Amino acid sequence: PDNFTYNFDTAVYKGAVTINTGLFIGGEWVDPIEESVTLLPEKSSRRLRVEERLMLIEPFKLRKRHAYKTTWGLKTTGRERGKALAKLAYLIEQNLDEFTALESLNVGKVYANAKHVDVTGTVTALRYYAGWADKIHGKTIETGENKLAYTRHEPYGVVGSIIPWNFPLNMLAWKIAPAMACGNTVVLKPSEITPLTALRLADLVNEAGFPPGTLNIVNGYGSSVGQAISEHMQIDKVAFTGSTLTGRRIMKAAGDSNLKAVTLELGGKSPTIIFDDADLEQAIKWTCMGLFFNMGQVCTAGSRIFVQEGVYDKFLEHFTAAAKGLAEKTGDPFASGTQHGPLVSQTQFDRVMSYIKSGKEEGATVHTGGERHGDKGFFVQPTIFTDAHPGMKIVQEEIFGPVEVIEQANDTIYGLASHIFSENTGRAIRVAHALESGMVWVNCANTVEVNVPFGGYKQSGNGRELGEYALETYTQVKAVHINI
Ligand code: NAD
Repeated sequence: PDNFTYNFDTAVYKGAVTINTGLFIGGEWVDPIEESVTLLPEKSSRRLRVEERLMLIEPFKLRKRHAYKTTWGLKTTGRERGKALAKLAYLIEQNLDEFTALESLNVGKVYANAKHVDVTGTVTALRYYAGWADKIHGKTIETGENKLAYTRHEPYGVVGSIIPWNFPLNMLAWKIAPAMACGNTVVLKPSEITPLTALRLADLVNEAGFPPGTLNIVNGYGSSVGQAISEHMQIDKVAFTGSTLTGRRIMKAAGDSNLKAVTLELGGKSPTIIFDDADLEQAIKWTCMGLFFNMGQVCTAGSRIFVQEGVYDKFLEHFTAAAKGLAEKTGDPFASGTQHGPLVSQTQFDRVMSYIKSGKEEGATVHTGGERHGDKGFFVQPTIFTDAHPGMKIVQEEIFGPVEVIEQANDTIYGLASHIFSENTGRAIRVAHALESGMVWVNCANTVEVNVPFGGYKQSGNGRELGEYALETYTQVKAVHINI
C-alpha cells in the first residue's frame, strides 16, 4: 500500500544470510556459526554428511535443553507462558501491515488475503493457545481403597518444528503456540524459500517475554537443518507439515535416532462432491474458493470435483465462468483488485505446468485455463480439466496449483479433507461419515477454525493441529500411583 515502506534490502540481507546458516536465539541475532558458513556455502543444497549436520546444530542444542529445564518447561506457570504468547500476538498485531507485506513478498500472496487470513489467523492462533496455557490438567483416578492415581500432562522437552512455504506464518503459529503453551521449547525451521516472516517474528521474541533459548528460529535447507532436527538426539519430538515424501523421511530419521515422537500434517487430494439438490450458487462460490485460494497451493484444496449428473452442465458452465473471472483478476499481489497472484517459485511453476502437460497427454480435456498467465513471473491460469479418469496422474497426485479434474471421488492414498454440497442434511451427514478423511466440510470449503481439529487420515498424516486436540500431541501423560 502507498502508506507502507519496508526496507527490502534488510529483509533480503537477513534472508540471504540465514537461508543457509543463521540462528536467532531467544530473539538475539547470533553470528552465523563460522563452521557452518564453511560447511554450507551460499546456495549450496548438497546433502551434508551426518557429522556435518550435527556440527551445524551443535551450538544450540545444549542451550535449548537448558532453557527447557531452567526457564520454561515445568519451571513456568501456564499463566506466564500464556502471557508471553498473548504478548507475541499483540506485537504482531501492532505490526500488521509490515507482516502482511512481508508475507506477500515471501509467497506471492494477494495482499488482502495475507492480511485477513495469514497474519490475522496467526494472531488468533497465538491468542487461542495463550488462553489454553493455564488449563492443561490431568485427572485423578480411583484405583481402590487407600490408593490414588493421578495423571500429569507434561511437555516433551525440546520440540523441532519443520514447516512448508504455503502459509509460512500461520503454520509457524499452529506449531509454536500449542507446543509452548504446554511448556515445550521450540526450534522451528521455516521453508528455505519463505524465511522472511519467521525472521521478523524472531525479532519480537524477547520483547514478548520468552526467556532466551525457548523459542528459536533456525533457517536452512531440509536436507541439512531439517534432517539434523529430525535425527537429533536432544530433540524430543518433531512436528512436521509438508509433503508426504518428506514426512516419510522424517519418520525414518526419528526411528533411526532416539525414536522421538512425530506428528505429520501431509499432502492431500481432496474430493468435492456436489449433489443435485445443492444450492448451486453457494456450491460454485465455495468450490472456487476451496480450489483456487492461495493459487491452489493449499493442502486441503478440493481438487477432484464430482458432480451429480443432473446439475453437471449447469455447474460446469458457472464454475468455468468463475474460474475465468479469477483469471481476469490475476496480477500483482499488492495491487488492489487482484484476486489471483503468482505461484511461490520457479520450481513450483515448472511442477504445475508439467502436470498440465501430463493431463493433456493422458487424454484429459482442458476446459478452461491450462496456460501461463502473461509472459513473466510464475502466474498460472486457474485451470479446469474434464474427461479425467482415475488412473491419470492429475487425478492421483497432488498438483498444488490452480488446476483440476472433475471426476469420481474416493480413490486416493490421501485422506486430508472432503467437501460436500447438498441441501439434504441426512445425506450430507451419511456421506461425511463414510468419507476417509480427517476433515469434512458441508456446504462450505476450507473454513479453518482455530478451535476445531485439523489433520488427515491415511497418507495425509497423523496427529491433529488446532483445538484442544493439538495439546494432546505436545504433552506426554505421566501416571502417578500413590499408596495412601
Ligand atoms: P516439503 O516437504 O518439500 O518441505 C516442507 C519442509 O520440510 C521444508 O521446511 C523443507 O525444508 C523441509 N524438508 C525437506 N526435506 C527434508 C528432510 N529430508 N528432512 C527434514 N526436513 C526436510 O513441502 P513443501 O513443498 O514446502 O510444502 C508443500 C507440501 O506441504 C504439500 O504436500 C502440502 O500438501 C503440504 N502441506 C500440508 C498441510 C497440512 O496441514 N496437512 C499444510 C500445508 C502444506
